[in-house]
Amino acid sequence: MPNKPGEAYLNRERAKREVLQKRWRKHEDKGYNKSRPEAHKFYYSPRWKKLRQWYRSGHPLCEACLKRGVVTSADLVDHIVPITDGGDPMCVNNLQALCHRCHNIKHAKERNKG
Ligand SMILES: [Zn+2]
Repeated sequence: MPNKPGEAYLNRERAKREVLQKRWRKHEDKGYNKSRPEAHKFYYSPRWKKLRQWYRSGHPLCEACLKRGVVTSADLVDHIVPITDGGDPMCVNNLQALCHRCHNIKHAKERNKG
């Protein structure tokens, strides 16, 4: 490969920059997971999966929709007070069954608050 003057230098610089960018991206990903490490792990735990299943079997409808007089089937079990805000992850009183729509609305509100 014939080298123009300065080309090797430019290639080296480019390679260096790519390494740095990759490292930075990795760093950012870690930062994201660090902001919710316990909650993140918790959602994969068997005890949560069991509790969620049990709660949903007793609450097949979206509780937020029901309050408005709308009947919608629940898609997921939500923590009323988020775990990241100190909510009890395993307390039945801190759980509610929600549809995707109500869950998204709730979390959009929480994001706007903080
Ligand atoms: Zn709903």
